[in-house]
Amino acid sequence: MYKRVLLKLSGEVLSGEAQKGFNEEHVNYLIREIKKVSEYGVKLGIVIGAGNLFRGRDFEGVRPTISDQIGMLGTVINALYLKDRFENAGIRTVVVSQIVTLPSVKLINYDDIDLYFDAGYIVIFAGGTSNPFFTTDTGAALRAVEMKAELLIKGTKVSGIYDKDPKIYNDAVKYNVITYDEAIEKDLKIMDTEAFSICKRYQMKILVMNFFEDNNLLRAIRGENVGTLVVP
Ligand code: UDP
Repeated sequence: MYKRVLLKLSGEVLSGEAQKGFNEEHVNYLIREIKKVSEYGVKLGIVIGAGNLFRGRDFEGVRPTISDQIGMLGTVINALYLKDRFENAGIRTVVVSQIVTLPSVKLINYDDIDLYFDAGYIVIFAGGTSNPFFTTDTGAALRAVEMKAELLIKGTKVSGIYDKDPKIYNDAVKYNVITYDEAIEKDLKIMDTEAFSICKRYQMKILVMNFFEDNNLLRAIRGENVGTLVVP
């Protein structure tokens, strides 16, 4: 069983694919899946994107430095929304970020993060990397390394990494385990290049799995390979 895990979810987990905002059914599903693992005693960090609200590229005529800051603020909105929904469901949650000063957001401090985990809190890291021109995948890779996670789980809508797009090719083959070097050599798109290179450099194991299959998160944290593992 893994004891320290960083879970990366895209904002669309809250809205449904290609939708905006918050969809009650999707949010409730997420709460149920997180509740199962929170009761398991894992030290869980979450990085949530903002695709359900704003992405930098959504804004025409706005400079990327500004539109990306709007995107990063979107991750704070999602984090605060989730914190309250989680706490209503009995899941103790703290939101940390370096990009805003708000009464419900704590400044990232490495010593405190361990205290939150020891006290049984889930930690939501909001604000991505804090820099424009990056993505929340890169934020997730950084936070995973910083919190000394044993595993970075990328929760997606596909069941793992395939040699070619399974939606287009019915003979696509899923990898159970793949090394960083094989993934680079085969040019497989797992995370953006910056995120992937951080994981490779710090030997952060990545599990790509279908978040929308009941119990997958719990099974993953119990050590089952429910998708594709990317390893050194
Ligand atoms: N973003 C950014 N820097 C970061 C992380 C995110 O500028 O370190 C901005 C960027 O504009 C991005 C948006 O925030 O489009 C939302 O993040 P992302 O696209 O990763 O969300 P997801 O697709 O995972 O929901």
